[in-house]
Amino acid sequence: MSLFGAALPSRTRSTKSSPADVRRNNRQLIFSLLFPTNQYSRADLGRLTGLSRVAVSDVVGQMLDEGLLRETGQAPSGGKGKRGTLLSIDIDRLNIISLDLTQDHMLHGAVTNLLGQALRHAEITLGADDRVSMEMISELIEKMMGMTEGTVIGIGIASPGVVDGGVVKRSTWLDWHDMDLATPLQERYGINVTVTNDATAAMLTERFFGQGDRNMIFIRIESGIGSAVLINDMPVKGEMHAAGEIGHISIDLNGPQCPCGKRGCLETTISGSALRKQLAGASENERKNILSTAGKHLGQALSMPVGLLDMADVCVYGQPDIINTTFIDAAQAYLDASTASTFHKHTTIRRCECGPDITVQGEAIAVLVHYLSQ
Ligand SMILES: [Zn+2]
Repeated sequence: MSLFGAALPSRTRSTKSSPADVRRNNRQLIFSLLFPTNQYSRADLGRLTGLSRVAVSDVVGQMLDEGLLRETGQAPSGGKGKRGTLLSIDIDRLNIISLDLTQDHMLHGAVTNLLGQALRHAEITLGADDRVSMEMISELIEKMMGMTEGTVIGIGIASPGVVDGGVVKRSTWLDWHDMDLATPLQERYGINVTVTNDATAAMLTERFFGQGDRNMIFIRIESGIGSAVLINDMPVKGEMHAAGEIGHISIDLNGPQCPCGKRGCLETTISGSALRKQLAGASENERKNILSTAGKHLGQALSMPVGLLDMADVCVYGQPDIINTTFIDAAQAYLDASTASTFHKHTTIRRCECGPDITVQGEAIAVLVHYLSQ
């Protein structure tokens, strides 16, 4: 399986699939091989997928018409036979509108190409109450509609909290319960709306444009804390769509009181807002102590899932005043001491280096995954 949902065609026809299913699977398969920046000829794609020459030509032809792929020139001559035309993802014809609800005091959005790269940015500042409303989301979408040059294949919204389908079930940060974003926006604009947890969205950028591979734990430390898990290229959703919700897991039952009623939750001990309060006015030495204690707490919180899932890669996203060498080294030291064994690969904790567009880019990839699944 790939993140785009495609599976290699099975040699034995054990399950009955409709022609539409086969076509969709072939499309996902070819797209996932070319995404983000690979170039293959039709013959290469046939070899890599096991699909017949006719099937490849058919699907590729349709994807070229649709604006998903483009022809980019001739493959270098491989000796015998004529040279094939290379294909790649087309970044000029189709656009995605991507919104990021995680920023302080504003809504941020971008019109992106099919690689999720921002072509145009837009923002709306929040009012005095700092609350995000449906009207503001619509206003930002309309602003961006006016900036698109290509056909918009979908609107994506990255939101903190528990997301189920197009609904934000619960977000402490936004103070939302059962907020259905997709239905009203879809009705209004007639375009598919995808809603994704912010940590999962950011992880998709790390997967395709950062250092991440098919397996990783991704942690987001901002005003709140979020995380996401990728196993064999599938983001883990969980029974109640709440996988990755680690902010309110307590690491110290006698720790500081949390608004959720428990004590010592990760969000009250190592979130950006909690740490900035402690860091205000601290000396250089005290800063180091605060950040290394916070890193140690993260290492402690991660030791169980890392051991349980045999994860070798942990990527931490956050502002560099907090997620710096002191923090990462302390987390690594704790993890090394608590998980070192002969049957697990050494686990590396590293800082995410994808930059501030990570959320809008990842959300655009989520839109693309959804678009290709239809
Ligand atoms: Zn809590």
